[in-house]
Amino acid sequence: MNPMTINEMTSDECSAVLVRASFGRLGCSLKDQAYVVPIYLVYDASYFYALSTEGRKIEWMRKNPKVCVQVDEFQGESNWVSVIAYGEYQELTEPQFTQERNHARHLLEKRPSWWQTALAERELKAAKNIIDPLFFRIHVVSTTGLRASD
Ligand SMILES: Cc1cc2nc3c(=O)[nH]c(=O)nc-3n(C[C@H](O)[C@H](O)[C@H](O)COP(=O)(O)OP(=O)(O)OC[C@H]3O[C@@H](n4cnc5c(N)ncnc54)[C@H](O)[C@@H]3O)c2cc1C
Repeated sequence: MNPMTINEMTSDECSAVLVRASFGRLGCSLKDQAYVVPIYLVYDASYFYALSTEGRKIEWMRKNPKVCVQVDEFQGESNWVSVIAYGEYQELTEPQFTQERNHARHLLEKRPSWWQTALAERELKAAKNIIDPLFFRIHVVSTTGLRASD
């Protein structure tokens, strides 16, 4: 069996992985406590776009916008890539960010049922059937990536 090697990826290689991603793990933190949630997202021109509902992650990212997103492509124990993107949370409120919000919607709706996970999770908890979807983006300022191969 060939030994596995792990190499650092260039920033272009990292970007290529982010562009292919439709799912990632969003990490945020508040008062020395980390919080990681799985989330659907789309990467375009240095920004991740996502749909969410109000809750802990939004509350925390409003207070501390420094976040990260981890994505990977796993094809086997010795054949994978993993990228961590560090960036800043930005809520796409209206009317200031109407254009960006429409752009987010356009990108996200390419995935079938793109809105269902966020809203279904919230519907479980909502006392009333009133759900206010929220769009946000993360401006990616740096990336690191590792590639395993044999
Ligand atoms: C494949 C997949 C795709 C998803 N895509 C989206 C998406 O696009 N947008 C979106 O908003 N959400 C998505 N979710 C759900 C997301 O992971 C969170 O569960 C959800 O957004 C609620 O997060 P919150 O911080 O608002 O939690 P809150 O409703 O505020 O609840 C906080 C409490 O619930 C616990 N909790 C919250 N989420 C999880 C979890 N995933 N696993 C275990 N415990 C949890 C926390 O530890 C804490 O105790 C997706 C989940 C999966 C599995």
